[in-house]
Amino acid sequence: RGSNKETYHIEIGADDIEYLPGDSLGVIPENPAEVVDPIVALLGIDKNETFTFRNEEVTAHDLLKKKLNIFYLPERVVSKYSALIGQEIPATRIGLHELLRIYPLNSNNQFKDLIGILEPISPRLYSISSSPEAHSGEVHITVARDKFHINEEWKFGLCSDFLSQLAVDNSIEFYIHKNSQFRLPSDEKDVIMIGPGTGVAPFRSFLAQRDAVGAGGRNWLFFGDQHFVTDFLYQTELQNWVETGVLTKLNVAFSRDQKEKVYVQHKMLKHGKELYEWLLNGASLYVCGAKDPMSVDVEDTLMQIVQKFGEKTIEEAVQFVEQLKDESRYLKDVY
Ligand SMILES: Cc1cc2nc3c(=O)[nH]c(=O)nc-3n(C[C@H](O)[C@H](O)[C@H](O)COP(=O)(O)OP(=O)(O)OC[C@H]3O[C@@H](n4cnc5c(N)ncnc54)[C@H](O)[C@@H]3O)c2cc1C
Repeated sequence: RGSNKETYHIEIGADDIEYLPGDSLGVIPENPAEVVDPIVALLGIDKNETFTFRNEEVTAHDLLKKKLNIFYLPERVVSKYSALIGQEIPATRIGLHELLRIYPLNSNNQFKDLIGILEPISPRLYSISSSPEAHSGEVHITVARDKFHINEEWKFGLCSDFLSQLAVDNSIEFYIHKNSQFRLPSDEKDVIMIGPGTGVAPFRSFLAQRDAVGAGGRNWLFFGDQHFVTDFLYQTELQNWVETGVLTKLNVAFSRDQKEKVYVQHKMLKHGKELYEWLLNGASLYVCGAKDPMSVDVEDTLMQIVQKFGEKTIEEAVQFVEQLKDESRYLKDVY
């Protein structure tokens, strides 16, 4: 409450589900009724009529609700639509409802052809924030509702909006997206985790897993967000892990709590000597969250730390970081 962002912790009950910390959940979102229903009305089709879609019999309503992407159509789809109705349409990205309103089908018999040119809804990935050892029969995700401004109107991303509107007992379609490139090392090894914002998700999974199995390696987390009071995701759990010793070190950066912006990379640099010592001692370094600029700034800072505290030239620092990558000790899951 009071945050500039909306972030949701979502727990999904799922028996017999198999995953490992580091995996993601692929979610297939549904289109909202307030967009689907006007399209059905505009097309004047029978929503219960069935059509074959990818070898499956699906009603017109379910096609528009659960199968077809009707938001922000790619230019290639708009161009195929233009050919279908035999009318010039400028190259643009547009929602299906608006497209049909401005450039109607010649007859509602063309609905079948329309199905043929629309693309399926793409799944979206979310880092799993639960641990199979600690949260048996459940899988958790940490979702930031994507909000953006178009033509003076606030809009929401399809999947994060869909997930944010779920009620208890709703069901969703999902699958496990394995990520063998983002795994915990053996139990006795140390880990350094850099996960601002929703980037903390896989590290909650890592920590819960290491806690549950009693892993002996040390754990160090850098977390960051805008404000301490409103944006400290999983604050209580993280502080409990500090108290119980599961989290050896927790460094936080709240960028907007003071005049100067402070980010995770500033905290890394502040603790650079110790961070370098952990790396020399065999620790693995993990980064999760925004690809740009966060993971780029983190990598630049890592280079600076290796140069400064390892007394290395730029070339030697690059080589050091390359070696970490070769040994699978510098792993990123960024988006
Ligand atoms: C490996 C991986 C892990 C991830 N983990 C997480 C995680 O743990 N938590 C998390 O919150 N996210 C995570 N993500 C991001 C997530 O997968 C989605 O990309 C994110 O939720 C946005 O999806 P969406 O469907 O809500 O938005 P979309 O509908 O896909 O929109 C995305 C963007 O497209 C543009 N756009 C969409 N519609 C329009 C329009 N009508 N007009 C103009 N522009 C438009 C906007 O720029 C918008 O921000 C992860 C991604 C990857 C690849």
